[in-house]
Amino acid sequence: MARRQFMLSEKEIPTHWYNIVPDMKEPPPPPIHPVTKEPIGPEALAPIFPMGLIEQEVSTERFIEIPEEVREIYRIWRPTPLYRATRFEKLLDTPARIYYKYEGTNPAGSHKPNTAVAQAYYNKKEGTKRIITETGAGQWGTALSMACKFFDMEAVVFMVRVSYDQKPYRKILMETFGGTVHPSPSPLTEFGKKMLAEDPDCPGSLGIAISEAIEVAVSKEENKYALGSVLNHVLLHQTVIGEEVRKQMEMAGEYPDIIIGCCGGGSNYAGFAFPFLRDKLTGERNHTRYIGVEPASCPSLTEGKYRYDHGDTAGMTPLLMMYTLGADFVPPSIHAGGLRYHGMAPLVSALVNQGYIEPLAIPQKEIFEAAVKFAHTEGIVPAPEPSHCIAAVIREAAKCRESGESKVILFNLCGHGLLDLSAYDAFLSGRME
Ligand SMILES: *Cc1c(COP(=O)(O)O)cnc(C)c1O
Repeated sequence: MARRQFMLSEKEIPTHWYNIVPDMKEPPPPPIHPVTKEPIGPEALAPIFPMGLIEQEVSTERFIEIPEEVREIYRIWRPTPLYRATRFEKLLDTPARIYYKYEGTNPAGSHKPNTAVAQAYYNKKEGTKRIITETGAGQWGTALSMACKFFDMEAVVFMVRVSYDQKPYRKILMETFGGTVHPSPSPLTEFGKKMLAEDPDCPGSLGIAISEAIEVAVSKEENKYALGSVLNHVLLHQTVIGEEVRKQMEMAGEYPDIIIGCCGGGSNYAGFAFPFLRDKLTGERNHTRYIGVEPASCPSLTEGKYRYDHGDTAGMTPLLMMYTLGADFVPPSIHAGGLRYHGMAPLVSALVNQGYIEPLAIPQKEIFEAAVKFAHTEGIVPAPEPSHCIAAVIREAAKCRESGESKVILFNLCGHGLLDLSAYDAFLSGRME
């Protein structure tokens, strides 16, 4: 019988995050100032981020030590399990060997706390009293509320209005962790007021919520801003996932032929895949394929343009070189709330542009069909976001069945779907578009 679980002990929590930048042949073009169009220096970010994070944002060090205080909190849920999906393989009648890393075991239910805890730590160290942020579906706001509480700081969260209305449980979860939640656009900021004047029923978007959060963050010295994806330091913190998976795949005696993850802003994908991708960048392992999956209705990688664009709608952030659908793009209200961002992390974008990562867009129905198959065999109800991976796994497993190849497929199950049950309800009752 094939072994199913690959567990590490507390002692094996990685001691370092991995920074892919020094291994890239062409690092991504730098962020530029929205007005002068000159590359921006670290000091330009000082009003919104603590120096500890800014240093990581521009670092060219290959491995960065994880502070002991952060590892101490990681021990609440790390290391996370790696499983072989033997029952799912059987259902798919495939010779492929399918493995998944499960990041839904922590209190917030997704990979987001890996960076929330790190960001809260560096903020606390530099005297921040209050962190302001945005959240789409609520996973990031939940993770940051929890992390701020751990470090005795306040969390203020601007939540995209459609999610605020559709996902009341996420709001309650954030409030339970001590966070303050406002629907965005809100009347609390100049930009929010402007958006509401144009459209009182504006459903909101991540781009709008980011603008509001930054506006509040810069209004007081003791405030700072935090982002849950896209930026280099966020991707860096998530590499704790991939560093663990490397050890676990060694335990399994396997090396992945195909690595699949979902891409919203790019952080779970990067955190999962970059520690393997370094083998490709350094020429050690060339055969592995890297697939990044996104929703067909918010296809930044497959249909966006690779150009400089703002991270937010008001144009307050530096211009980032990335695949983008345009900062004013308001995506349709699909259920994978975490994948509704107009852009993509500059590091992931550059690696797609250089041909290391293959982007793939999949429509919503296929996602939920895949998710239900997975739940039936593995017993986990996956979040809609990583269900994008599961749909891609099914496609690859079918190819293996046709060719008879026993490929090793590895994917990141980056969160559970227990607070997405209304989406499952819509799917199961045939009300999903
Ligand atoms: C936030 C989130 C995403 C999307 O963000 P990335 O930065 O692309 O990882 C995907 N899945 C889940 C479960 C999330 O919480």
